[in-house]
Amino acid sequence: SMASPALLMRVVASAYSVAEKAATIVRNVMSAGDLGIVEKAGPNDLQTKADRLVQMSICASLARKFPKVTIIGEEELPNDDVSEELIEDGHCEEILKKPCPTQYTGIKEEELVIWVDPLDGTKEYTEGLLDHVTVLIGIAYGGKAIAGVINQPYYNYEAGANAVLGRTIWGVLGVGAFGFQLTEAPAGKHIVVTTRSHSSALVNECITALNPDHVIRVGGAGNKIIQLIEGKASAYVFASPGCKKWDTCAPEAILHAVGGKITDIRGNPFQYNKDVKHMNSAGVLATLRNYDYYASRIPNTVKESLVP
Ligand code: AMP
Ligand code: MG
Ligand code: MG
Repeated sequence: SMASPALLMRVVASAYSVAEKAATIVRNVMSAGDLGIVEKAGPNDLQTKADRLVQMSICASLARKFPKVTIIGEEELPNDDVSEELIEDGHCEEILKKPCPTQYTGIKEEELVIWVDPLDGTKEYTEGLLDHVTVLIGIAYGGKAIAGVINQPYYNYEAGANAVLGRTIWGVLGVGAFGFQLTEAPAGKHIVVTTRSHSSALVNECITALNPDHVIRVGGAGNKIIQLIEGKASAYVFASPGCKKWDTCAPEAILHAVGGKITDIRGNPFQYNKDVKHMNSAGVLATLRNYDYYASRIPNTVKESLVP
């Protein structure tokens, strides 16, 4: 008889379906027209009804199936019962068919930490820049991001009525990443992708020092990692605090699964243990290729301004 799939692959397979349910909620809240916007720290730190409902859906669905896993979501919500219509019970069969890397086959529920960003790019969501939005479910073990799911609910939304709306990208270290076409950025060009709505003098000073051929300013950490793996940009550079562990965990796992690299601006790897500080205080530097080219050109003054 077939051995039951390893826990890690079951978690990823469930996270895939949970992220698709999340995408449906994101689209439904927008089409219903009442976003229920709440300011958190200020006008550039927003929460909508979609952020709230999606976090309830993801966390309750995964907690029901994997009760001993630690799940950390971005939003602070009352501990109310979650309505049954928000629960997703399904999983992706294709993921269960992939063998689990041997170093992960023995993982127990209590050893996993799941970092959830229910809606990454909320500011852009409220402004109608819909393809900047992603749903992020990152899975960590031993402090490392080892697997992740990124759903882009509005992928293809400007491609016409015949195009399939939305997509789900997933990856596991040692297995690979799927749901997109891995593409190299144009050779010999330095295209930097950075924040659209959280710029600062330091963010811009750092980019200027890299002397890029082109700068792309878009919302979302998930969206910016997609720009790297699809060859639209060669480096994601964000010399500022503001990104949190739920922004980087799923993107990191997917980027690393295809041979890329992400660290803070000073070159330190991120840690994802359950007790870690949420804020990535020393910013973000990520590339699919040529990490050292960019890392070696970050000015020391910029590095010294950002304390991990
Ligand atoms: P961005 O590239 O500006 O879309 O930021 C990527 C992620 O980090 C999003 O989840 C943002 O909400 C978050 N973030 C970055 N900077 C800030 C900030 N200054 N305040 C609040 N959230 C931030
Ligand atoms: Mg986010
Ligand atoms: Mg968010």
